[in-house]
Amino acid sequence: MAEPLEPQARLDEIVRQIAANMVAEVCSLYVLRADGVLELYATQGLNPGSVHLAQLRLGEGLVGTIAATARALNLQDAQKHPAFTYLPETGEEIFQSFLGVPILRAGRTLGVLVVQNKERRVYRDEEIEALETVAMVVAEMIAAGSLAGLSRPGVVLDLSRPVHFDGLALADGIGLGYVVLHEPRVVVTNLFNEDAEAETARLEKAVSSLRISIEDMLQRRDIAAEGEHRAVLEAYRMFAYDRGWVRRLEEAVRNGLTAEASVEKVQNDMRARMMHMTDPFLRERLHDFDDLANRLLRELMGRGGDPIGADAAGDAIIVARSMGAADLLDYRRDQIRGLVLEEGGQTSHVSIVARALGIPVVGQAKGVVSMAEKGDAIIVDGEEGVVHLRPPADVERVFADRVQFRARRQERYRALRDVPARTRDGQDIDLLMNAGLLVDLPQLAEAGAAGIGLFRTELQFMIASTMPKTSEQERLYAAVLDAADGRPVTFRTLDVGGDKVLPYLHQSPEENPALGYRALRLALDRPGLMRTQLRALLKAAAGRELRVMFPMVTDLDELRKARDLISREFKHLTRFAHVMPRRLKLGAMIEVPSLLYQLDELMQLVDFVSIGSNDLFQFFSAVDRGNAQISGRFDDLSTPFMRALKDILDAGARNSVSVTLCGEMAGRPISAMALIGLGFRSISMTSSAIGPVKAMLLDLDAGELHRTVMAHLADRHPRQTFRQVLEDFAERHAISL
Ligand code: PEP
Ligand code: MG
Repeated sequence: MAEPLEPQARLDEIVRQIAANMVAEVCSLYVLRADGVLELYATQGLNPGSVHLAQLRLGEGLVGTIAATARALNLQDAQKHPAFTYLPETGEEIFQSFLGVPILRAGRTLGVLVVQNKERRVYRDEEIEALETVAMVVAEMIAAGSLAGLSRPGVVLDLSRPVHFDGLALADGIGLGYVVLHEPRVVVTNLFNEDAEAETARLEKAVSSLRISIEDMLQRRDIAAEGEHRAVLEAYRMFAYDRGWVRRLEEAVRNGLTAEASVEKVQNDMRARMMHMTDPFLRERLHDFDDLANRLLRELMGRGGDPIGADAAGDAIIVARSMGAADLLDYRRDQIRGLVLEEGGQTSHVSIVARALGIPVVGQAKGVVSMAEKGDAIIVDGEEGVVHLRPPADVERVFADRVQFRARRQERYRALRDVPARTRDGQDIDLLMNAGLLVDLPQLAEAGAAGIGLFRTELQFMIASTMPKTSEQERLYAAVLDAADGRPVTFRTLDVGGDKVLPYLHQSPEENPALGYRALRLALDRPGLMRTQLRALLKAAAGRELRVMFPMVTDLDELRKARDLISREFKHLTRFAHVMPRRLKLGAMIEVPSLLYQLDELMQLVDFVSIGSNDLFQFFSAVDRGNAQISGRFDDLSTPFMRALKDILDAGARNSVSVTLCGEMAGRPISAMALIGLGFRSISMTSSAIGPVKAMLLDLDAGELHRTVMAHLADRHPRQTFRQVLEDFAERHAISL
């Protein structure tokens, strides 16, 4: 590699040597261009005429998959892989085995290096390591610009073209700004060590400074209190002391890499292994490890004190492959306009926290990290799930208008904050908000919520690495009640299981997790867990009203058992002279259709019920709420579902039990209108929906709507769907939906 050769000749020599050393018939090098295309730059074994002609898009074929996922593929029978595509110009159809590794530099994919064999074979770990190490060297050549000009005229490697990415909308809003690349972008250029012992000593020193810096952060006054920030740092502390991690780092140094290159290598390996996991908790942990590896790299490079994101100027759009919730909390909120992730899902911690902070997020934007450069103009469209990188001027203008439009609308909603939520015909409606984290609480005042209708206590548990102690739970609940300042707060007991996984709670894999061992079913089997939480709630509410509700009640016996547990805790604390809540109100969530046929009996056991319409509709209609293929197919404004909701309201009225609804439909103006028409006077929604829902109901004649709704529900042969009836009503009365 050190021979003085022209760039193309050097690449040709590299692929020739790799093929010879690995006894492979083929070795090929693909380079990622600015337009997201991977171009064949050199090959030994494939048709030489296809060099600079054969190309694949990011995500296309095996090579594109490797580039998009930054993960190696080791296949005995490449053609059986679902992503396999055949490029006729290369003549590669005769090769069975395939090993490809991403060419990575500072977490960014620059290309792909591949070896292939005719015979079926499995490439050994040492071979993968060797190929990865060569890939690190090639990455330096690409980064140094020495390959520029090798391609056909007109093809550019520099990152300057407009590109857009279709991803997933994870948090609503639109952000315009400039790319701030979240670490990992600590560039490691010095790859091979001269003295393994001295390098090991450097590594050890850096690991211990890393540990000290995390301990220091934990001591910082603003973090020392409870909260999600602290919980995440606790998780980092645990990983920083992980023996396996440190052992793998030391091994890589012994094999000849510098401490920095070892950190990068071990992290790439870890990523490759963990990416296979479907367990959402473990995938979250990968983000934590990524962040930790970056912190360690900064220690090694003498930049340990850099707070993450300290250099983010205003109008920052953070671009990252993945991100832990703690990383996001490290940035200054007032400087962030949006977040773009290559990974991430609705339930990732970072999405949960971003939504709470009002930061627009698009996830699953495959390839964005490879294509974005620091300082590039970028637009995040969290409404549609699209990212525009280096947008042309006309696209930028359209979005600037949309941002202004949203801002004006926000301004109108803000102006409504202190206006009572009263319909035109004088019906008061309680607009409550859903919450679950400390960062949600400022929204209570900002959105003008009447209280918290659903506090999802599991979020504290999901963000922590170990079970939150009773004292930690108690402090969170007390902080929530303090922030609510006399407004009602309904705490829901732990709703875990299904997709809400806790690491410290071992659960066996289930075929149908949504129908499985979750929520109250699990809590009643683990009374220790439930009692700890109930005790924390009772103590936190000393002298105040406490409202507690239980999720996923299916059978009334479950509810009786849950009530027994709380009364036992109540007696226990009273015996030890604790100050008890001034008043205790118990409720059940109606999420399982079996309750619809025992409403009167249910109402005898509770002070209030809250309809979890997300789950109730999912079970009512047999529609998986998380399955995008079908979740849009059935309307939750369907007549049968409306009749079910009406039955619940009627049973509440018969039994003097208050009924509220806290699923997502409460936050959509048209469905909120339907609910008010049915007779709901209390609904709970995500805080950003309170403005739009209030704007809708101020213009509403609830009495007239009620008559329209009831007539429709009684009609056995309606000409219109319920949704159409509502839309017509809104149009006739100039109600803004
Ligand atoms: C619901 O099911 O409607 C609900 C509010 O609970 P979650 O969304 O947390 O399951
Ligand atoms: Mg639910």
